[in-house]
Amino acid sequence: MSEIMEMLIRRGFLWQSFEIYGGMAGFIDYAPLGNNLRRKIERIWREYFVIDERAAEIDTPTIGIEEVFIASGHASSFTDVAIECSECGRVYRADHYVKEKLGIEVEETVEAVKEVMEVYDLRCECGGAFREPAPMNLMFSTKIGPGKGKKGYLRPETAQGIFIDFKRLVGYFRDKLPFGVAQIGRAYRNEISPRQGVIRLREFNQAELEFFVHPARKEHPNFETFAEDVVKLVDKFDNLHEVSLKDAVDRGIIANQILAYFIGKTRRFLLEIGIRDEKLRFRQHKDDERAHYATDCWDAEVETSYGWVEVVGIADRTDYDLRKHSIHSGEDLTVFVPYPEPIRVKKKKAVPLMNRIGPAFKEKAKKVAEAISAAEIDSEVDEIEVEIDGEKIRVGSEFFEIQEVEEEISGEKIIPHVIEPSFGLDRISYAVLEHAFDKDVVDGEERRVLRLRRKVSPIEVAVLPLLSRSPFESKAQEIVNMLRKNGIFTDYDDSGSIGRRYRRYDEIGTPFCVTVDHQTFDDGTVTIRDRDTTRQVRVKVDDLPAVLKELLNSEKDVTEFGEVFR
Ligand code: AMP
Repeated sequence: MSEIMEMLIRRGFLWQSFEIYGGMAGFIDYAPLGNNLRRKIERIWREYFVIDERAAEIDTPTIGIEEVFIASGHASSFTDVAIECSECGRVYRADHYVKEKLGIEVEETVEAVKEVMEVYDLRCECGGAFREPAPMNLMFSTKIGPGKGKKGYLRPETAQGIFIDFKRLVGYFRDKLPFGVAQIGRAYRNEISPRQGVIRLREFNQAELEFFVHPARKEHPNFETFAEDVVKLVDKFDNLHEVSLKDAVDRGIIANQILAYFIGKTRRFLLEIGIRDEKLRFRQHKDDERAHYATDCWDAEVETSYGWVEVVGIADRTDYDLRKHSIHSGEDLTVFVPYPEPIRVKKKKAVPLMNRIGPAFKEKAKKVAEAISAAEIDSEVDEIEVEIDGEKIRVGSEFFEIQEVEEEISGEKIIPHVIEPSFGLDRISYAVLEHAFDKDVVDGEERRVLRLRRKVSPIEVAVLPLLSRSPFESKAQEIVNMLRKNGIFTDYDDSGSIGRRYRRYDEIGTPFCVTVDHQTFDDGTVTIRDRDTTRQVRVKVDDLPAVLKELLNSEKDVTEFGEVFR
């Protein structure tokens, strides 16, 4: 086990799920510190991708009925290629196993895997031969209701809940594009052989934003904010570009401005929560790698001990999902987009000839005439098919006249396209922890320190009585209560030497320790110690909430806030 993993488990960030029953790959428990960290990251995500985008956030069921995933294509296409050993029965994800054993990248198709298996005589770890490779669907299926029930699936992404509510959402946004809708929640994928610890989970946390736009206007009103940001981009031909986002769009490296906007925003968000810039890049999906719904896709990848890991997928999903749901549900999922000025167009129109329709269609005549008037016609036609009370009737050209008319059109109906930044909060939280993990030497001794950004540290302040006896303890407890009332995540610790306690809080990334010492009882001051510099200043107890809040919300140095004590 890696040093960081050992620490994360021992100190209460992450635990193996079902541990007392032997555990199960692909599941983790968020222990108290890890849970707090992930929640804080979630909160910052919300600031960036909900509040700042003026998006709406919704919450839909994690179980979906079968129809949803038949329409979305997940039931047929959300698969990985699996290979099963004919002797021991173990199943592996083919592309991962080939990479691990042969060091080659194989396209994720049954044919490509088959070819590699034939050329290299690929064998199971037990030495057994593999059966034919086959696609395996990654969704967990379930039954809804008793008895035979109704087939359902655990959602493999939160996005579908948003597409299904689209009609309601359009109304909510008063028919105005563009608009964004976000959802944060669990997603489930029955990964074939998850062996990368917290990186590949079967139940994980997504934060997704679906940004709906006019297909011809893939621009973002705030693109300027990120236009000059220089970003590391690896294109689909594996060329590395270090260019501004504006250049990347102008040179066609990134397909459109909105994708570039979300790449910029994603980068700033990741940097803010503590991902290191030199360990961050954006990689474009190759043509054979893109999901069934995407036309262009960029992954934010971060470098970890597991190699470069995808933490965010930013995809142009076009109108794929809305179109499919519209076809399968029979609902109109278009948006009416008004023109700046109404336009006049010449149109061919069928005008019913009542004197002929009346005798021929009798009691149906009125409905036939109305249907003829409403028919869409784009050229001379010999007959028009109309539907009257469920019956299809062909009406010959002797019953109508084609005339050219001028009509005023005030807008058009379109199916919006959607640009989706999709974040995996588990991978992000883990990467933040790895990037923060550090060692240095303090007072001639090696120390382990988690250099978390103050904003995401699970415990913000630890209050420590210098000595574990009265009146140090009661004073420290009083301060803990005061800080908690001020909304600061505060811990209390009185066990062991003060040096040992500082090390404990350094190891879990607590940015500040407050110590009650002898001088506290002389002049009402305590010390605040900074985790990174280990410098200490003296501050009045009454000023503590304000000082700590300012420190926690900034990058300021403690020495700006009081007389340096050490
Ligand atoms: P995708 O829909 O595959 O682009 O996934 C979106 C994001 O969800 C990815 O960038 C990952 O961060 C995360 N993700 C996908 N699959 C998993 C998994 N099995 N375990 C943990 N996170 C995942």
